[in-house]
Amino acid sequence: MGRPIRVLVVEDNPEDADLTVRALHRGGYAPAWQRVDTAEAMREALRVQSWDLALADYGIPGFGALPALRVLHESGLDIPCIVLSRTAGEETAVDVMRAGARDYVKKENLTRLVPAVERELREAQVRRERVSAEEALRESRELLQAVVNAAPVILFALDNAGTITFAEGRGLEALGRTQGELVGHSAFALYRGNEEVLAQVRGALAGERDHSVAPVPCAGRTFEMRWAAFRGRGGERLGTIGLAADITDRVELERELLHSQKMQALGTLAGGIAHDFNNLLQAILGHAELLRERKADEDPDVPSLSGIEEAAHRAARLISELLTFSRMQAINLRPIALHEVVRATAEHLERGLPSSVTLRLELGAARDRVVGDPDRLQQAMQNLCMNAREAMPDGGELLVETANRVVEPGEPGMVPEAEPGRYVVMSVQDSGPGMDPDMQRRVFDPFFTTKDVGKGTGLGLAIVYGVARSHSGFVQLVSEPGRGTRFSIYLPEAEPARPHAEPADEEARGSETVLVVEDESMLADLLRQMLERRGFLPLVAHGADEALALFEAHRESIALVVTDLVMPGRDGMELAQELHARDTALPILLATGYVADSDVAELQGWGIRGVIAKPYRAGDIVRKVREVLDARPES
Ligand code: ADP
Ligand code: MG
Repeated sequence: MGRPIRVLVVEDNPEDADLTVRALHRGGYAPAWQRVDTAEAMREALRVQSWDLALADYGIPGFGALPALRVLHESGLDIPCIVLSRTAGEETAVDVMRAGARDYVKKENLTRLVPAVERELREAQVRRERVSAEEALRESRELLQAVVNAAPVILFALDNAGTITFAEGRGLEALGRTQGELVGHSAFALYRGNEEVLAQVRGALAGERDHSVAPVPCAGRTFEMRWAAFRGRGGERLGTIGLAADITDRVELERELLHSQKMQALGTLAGGIAHDFNNLLQAILGHAELLRERKADEDPDVPSLSGIEEAAHRAARLISELLTFSRMQAINLRPIALHEVVRATAEHLERGLPSSVTLRLELGAARDRVVGDPDRLQQAMQNLCMNAREAMPDGGELLVETANRVVEPGEPGMVPEAEPGRYVVMSVQDSGPGMDPDMQRRVFDPFFTTKDVGKGTGLGLAIVYGVARSHSGFVQLVSEPGRGTRFSIYLPEAEPARPHAEPADEEARGSETVLVVEDESMLADLLRQMLERRGFLPLVAHGADEALALFEAHRESIALVVTDLVMPGRDGMELAQELHARDTALPILLATGYVADSDVAELQGWGIRGVIAKPYRAGDIVRKVREVLDARPES
């Protein structure tokens, strides 16, 4: 058995073909062969199977070695072709070799055929191996390139002198330089002036470091870098390869998280003292109010009493400021028209503005409905306007604008907490000195202020932030040194309003029996007096047990219960549950320094018809009592 070989014989003479094949047999081959003598037959043969070798007779009438070589060439296949001829001389040989034949053998001298075939098969094998090695190399290059292109990093290499020899990767965009601007240039020259980058390069070249411990700022982004020595076969150091990852977004998120943790800590602290503090304020406020109501208008004590009330109110506002941005204040969300709030605040502000500052309103929002707390929004706008005013001691323009905006998912330039959706935006813009990016990062921090002691508390913007968050919105800040500052509060757009009448009754009165539950007798007494003065019949309990006993005794007459939330023993919520179990129709009002947002929905299920934020005015609580009683279904 010879070595198998597939041979395409281009020959018009079958005997010559036999002779050729026999020569191959003698040379130790076992040829599988086919004879063709037209271009079409040859094309067909090439199409249907693969061949190791073509043997072409030079002089077939109408067809021959040269046309056969053309057919082979057109096919794109790498099949060695040896030309056989009876007649040819030197010139023919040159022609066929030019046309792509691998060798030229005279038919009279067929002994030359087998060595030629052997050589050709060997060379074809070598060629095939080289092609597949090249293919493999190309594939692995392509894979590497795909990896480099897909990874959001920059891969680069430096020689030992610090010249960049390689720079690739999708991260190049973030670096703001093209490959051409990097490769072939010295890193030291390119980054002259950026000490952080230079320190990295120096350390890496010296082999001192393999990664950046601190984030490296460059081109307005933040990078994390890794380094590794690049060595030759003998272990000699050829240079350094590096990887830079853009971690700007991650750093930003971490900062955000830290900020919200700080806010939360402060909120917890504020929440902790708010209850006691509010109770004290409540007592001060309530007694002053009662005293003043008992006095005639011209009484000389009235100004002092008003002074006490005013001071207590300011203290209450301070506490409520702390609570607002920590979201623990019982904020009073309802559908409102933002423009009404803006107009009212502007009117209020305008009176206090120096003549050098002009206030301009541009209420451009076609839809200004939001679910909000007008007092809180007014406070936020006021804080922004006060800052703007303080930023323009020599005068300037204060612009308050509203607009409708749609925030797209992943919109660039937006703060990380920005949720996509439709918003009503209120912006306050000044022509003051503006702020650099470092300052912009810090202004929302509670207690961050650049103002003199006693002038600034550093709470203004922390509150603005908190107000926006408690309205499911966010604050966007745009500023540049020398180009003014613009704060925008984004509030989710609400459905259009249904017209409804506002119940505004300053002198609400009543004659119903109201059960008052308050553990501090000072406050309980105060509440009793407030209700009595407006004609109600208050029953006072100092705790849940006493309240339940009173309820059992006066079940028929009690129309409503006002209970404090925080009490020793069973608290206001537990009491509400107990009462609700006994009489599901009994309306309950909860008085509290703060309620977490998450609790409000739960309250409805326990007969709680309203929450009164402490400290309250007599008018407020009586109005609320009246409101809830009037809302009872007719029986
Ligand atoms: P405060 O006004 O009590 O200092 P804020 O939280 O309101 O506290 O503001 C914090 C700091 O932010 C200010 O001290 C000021 O340095 C800076 N700032 C706020 N608003 C502006 C503004 N419109 N222009 C320039 N700087 C501002
Ligand atoms: Mg301020």
